[in-house]
Amino acid sequence: MSYVGPDFEPPRPPRHPLRGPLTVAVAALVPGALVGWLVWQAVGDDDGDGSAARAPASASRSASPGTPDDGKERPDGGTGQSGGGEEPGTSPSATASAPAASGPLKGRVVVVDPGHNPGNFRHPSDINRKVDIGTNRKECDTTGTATNSGYTEAEFTLDVSRRLRTILEKQGATVKFTQDGGRAWGPCVDERAEIGNKAGADAVVSIHADGSAAGNRGFHVILPGVVHSGAADTRPIVASSRALGERVAGGFLRTTGTPPSNYIGGGTGIDVRKDLGGLNLSTVPKVFIECGNMRDSKDSAQLTSGAWRQKAAQGISEGIVSFLRG
Ligand code: ZN
Repeated sequence: MSYVGPDFEPPRPPRHPLRGPLTVAVAALVPGALVGWLVWQAVGDDDGDGSAARAPASASRSASPGTPDDGKERPDGGTGQSGGGEEPGTSPSATASAPAASGPLKGRVVVVDPGHNPGNFRHPSDINRKVDIGTNRKECDTTGTATNSGYTEAEFTLDVSRRLRTILEKQGATVKFTQDGGRAWGPCVDERAEIGNKAGADAVVSIHADGSAAGNRGFHVILPGVVHSGAADTRPIVASSRALGERVAGGFLRTTGTPPSNYIGGGTGIDVRKDLGGLNLSTVPKVFIECGNMRDSKDSAQLTSGAWRQKAAQGISEGIVSFLRG
């Protein structure tokens, strides 16, 4: 299965979500070096919760397959609907790490969700099967995108996730993965959500990189919108997920120095979606982060750098720690 075709989506229309919140969150975390950027960013200030207001945007996205991130990404799949099934043979293989003995995060549980799976492309019928995400039925999972030189998003997400785990464990957190490269494909997006829920996670972060058009650059964090349909009810986690996401965005910005997306979120680095099963089905605070655009040469130069990925993991961890410590 090619990484290109179904994964690529045209750039989404510009949106103007929550500038205020992130500005505030970032201001609290970012040192002087980025003040200029912040001043620029503060120009717009409409905020709003984006979620409800953004329904049209979400709808259009669902309609058009392939959005930046994996457009396809829509981690949950993206297009088509058919009878879906559950996941046979795949047990919620949460990979738990040994709890650290001490540290400021002792007793806290963080679930890290490395987006996609390096083996997904070899199992198209399995990952294309539809699963119930409450509001809809979508593909179990997608292949993820890749850089033009072939570095896959699935490799990227596992690498950043492992670096993140190391950092969080040093601070005492118990870290669980939804997959750690030890299974042939998946898990499906509903199972990914279930792993975080069953773990009683204090925070869940799903790691991704986007597959948008060249020239589209920067990171963005995706928050769950308000969804109450079928098995999906995000109402209890929308606020806490926003708090988590704003801190993750702030930490990522400060640590990597990478500007927020220039094609999603109106410069805020924050997006809200209602079409992602991994968010719709979560009962604990959860966000996605699209660390950059693998299809852009400048972004891909960063994404393929181990040193940059370490900074990315550090930034994400700082956001998580800030959220957990209140
Ligand atoms: Zn992805």
